[in-house]
Amino acid sequence: MTHPLAERFPLRNGNCRVYCHPDCLWHEGPADHPERPERLEAILEGCLELPKRLPVSFVIPEAATFDQLRAVHDKNYLQRLEEAAHHQSTFMSDDNYLCQDSFDAIRAAAGCAIATGETLLGNGRAFALTRPPGHHAGRSSAEGFCFVNHIALAVETVRSERPGARFLIVDFDVHHGNGIDRIYERDDTVFYYSIHGDPAHIYPNSGFPDDQGSAQGHGFTRNVTIGEGTSGDEWLRIFADSLSEVERTFAPDYLIVGAGFDAHREDPFSLLELEDTHYLAAAQLLIQLANDHCEGRSAWLLEGGYSTSVLKRLVPACVSLLADSSNPGARGSRD
Ligand SMILES: [Zn+2]
Repeated sequence: MTHPLAERFPLRNGNCRVYCHPDCLWHEGPADHPERPERLEAILEGCLELPKRLPVSFVIPEAATFDQLRAVHDKNYLQRLEEAAHHQSTFMSDDNYLCQDSFDAIRAAAGCAIATGETLLGNGRAFALTRPPGHHAGRSSAEGFCFVNHIALAVETVRSERPGARFLIVDFDVHHGNGIDRIYERDDTVFYYSIHGDPAHIYPNSGFPDDQGSAQGHGFTRNVTIGEGTSGDEWLRIFADSLSEVERTFAPDYLIVGAGFDAHREDPFSLLELEDTHYLAAAQLLIQLANDHCEGRSAWLLEGGYSTSVLKRLVPACVSLLADSSNPGARGSRD
């Protein structure tokens, strides 16, 4: 299977990887649903404009197997989801539409997530163009357009070979990633940092600052909430300050980024005012963090973002920054 992007940016050792799968386009719901194939089409179109010299390789990974999904999700949940895709129009939530091809799309997106974990194991950098998104999905729950938790799959892929590894997840989607938060709330080797709109006013109404994890994971969750109407400059200041506090207390081996672009002022869901420059500055901070603490090892996974023009501009721009960043520890990714 080929794609014009895979031909233009072929596999080269040491390059930043972008994982995408054409089956992710097959998950299709009502015409007015914001989580639609055009999101990914816009990103792929934008990526075709990237300069050919960029050290980036576009790769179509294998779709995840049922057993691979079980690294994060309950067997019974996955069986019900697969079955539902053949018979039902929604699953567990009215937001989570299904079509005949949805389970294939879900497995394809999960394959992209697992591939980022493989890249981390090879000390590389990767961006996965995952849709449907993942950060609201729990071990046995689908909500907020999400069915499978991609970031957790990336973490578990690495952990299966490096059991003692420490992960910092930074989720800048405008919504709290309640699925990730729940999966790792008791874990002191996975630090979940999320910056999101005020949960009193925005879905999923969780992720208040006093939620800091539980049991031995207490202190390993950081929820930063941003009030409606906060300027992009102020968001960036809060992001930089709070992230550097986390850096002082937690030394990660791997950085995993939940890249949601729905805090942008042009996004139909946003209550915030971010512009392109704020996202690009945040991306630079994250690249620096990965270089400072993780020898460059970082995986970015697409979460929300519902303005196709914003996605078309910003995802390729972040890929470009990631690919161009120096990565002194890289020995090339495994294939
Ligand atoms: Zn979101």
